[in-house]
Amino acid sequence: MTLLRLDHVFHAFDGQTVVRDVSLTAESGELTCLLGPSGCGKTTLLRITAGLERLQQGRVTLGDRVAADAGTSIDLPAEARGIGMMFQDYALFPHLTLYENIVFGIPARRVDRRQWVGQALDQTGLSSLANSYPHMLSGGQQQRAALLRALAPEPRVLLLDEPFSGLDITLRIQVREEILGFLKQTGVTTLMVTHDPEEAMFMADRVLVMDAGRILQAATPPEIYFNPVNGYVAELFGPINRIPATVVSGAVETPIGRFEAANLTDGTSAQVLIRPEGISLTVTEQDSHRSNTVTVLSARILGRSTSLRLRCRNGANDIELHARIPGVFLPEAGSPVVVGVNPRQAFVFPSR
Ligand code: ATP
Repeated sequence: MTLLRLDHVFHAFDGQTVVRDVSLTAESGELTCLLGPSGCGKTTLLRITAGLERLQQGRVTLGDRVAADAGTSIDLPAEARGIGMMFQDYALFPHLTLYENIVFGIPARRVDRRQWVGQALDQTGLSSLANSYPHMLSGGQQQRAALLRALAPEPRVLLLDEPFSGLDITLRIQVREEILGFLKQTGVTTLMVTHDPEEAMFMADRVLVMDAGRILQAATPPEIYFNPVNGYVAELFGPINRIPATVVSGAVETPIGRFEAANLTDGTSAQVLIRPEGISLTVTEQDSHRSNTVTVLSARILGRSTSLRLRCRNGANDIELHARIPGVFLPEAGSPVVVGVNPRQAFVFPSR
């Protein structure tokens, strides 16, 4: 069931359009993640959804109720939307204890929610800190307290804006795992914003990839990884190899193999995008005439994987490829290696 829906939302600040025709849904009990670089319009979308930013064009629907419609005068105030929000800075009230912060937004008649807070404090390991003030808490504890405060009034939809950005990397990985478990247990419908692809992949049931005010792709994490709609989405997970090629008979030929391009017309000038982790390498003899043979330029161990630069002849030109091989694989510079490519990690798109 769809609990939150945005239809054809546009938004501009001082004549500059920052959200362009965004339509999205968040499904009941799911965590939907808006993923995109700084400034692409993610926070603006959350603020429009929450009623903190006036809708300029489009419609916002919560459950079966229209919350805002720019074509009519409907515009529910933020407090009437049943939305919980947690922003990057947590914004706990400094003069209230952790417990007072959390129960702050619960209406007096909701005795059940005060009971819920007691259980939630136990589950999140905060019970012993209930009477502490925010400045006495660690970043992770403040983060959990802010989350409980957002959840305490039992919102229909929870909005999280970069919820882990204030935590250092080790803590972030631990906290996000705990928070994900907790959110799934409460069953709240969540729309979260992040600029970190790995975080989006870890947290989300569905990822909405954004760039420059638009949604480029809305799909599950495996679909985003294995079926990117364009080079931008393919490159979200790190630099990618690009080999120029022309489509002939529904495929492209490259020095390291042939790739299907059934959806492109013959003669299209294309690019084959291959992830470094999609390349496998085997050592071969110096005078090897095997196809797909390339020359090692350098091999450096990174710890759990080895990073290799490879030189490959492409027609009259040399191109450089980058491979990332699990474990230790350190052939000498100048030695020949045979390249294999995992077809699930290779994508053919028209050249821009
Ligand atoms: P970040 O992660 O850095 O917050 P974001 O993707 O959430 O980025 P937004 O905060 O939605 O992006 O901002 C989108 C664009 O709108 C940016 O160029 C930003 O400078 C601009 N912007 C946001 N709020 C305002 C405002 N109140 N007045 C003018 N411009 C704004």
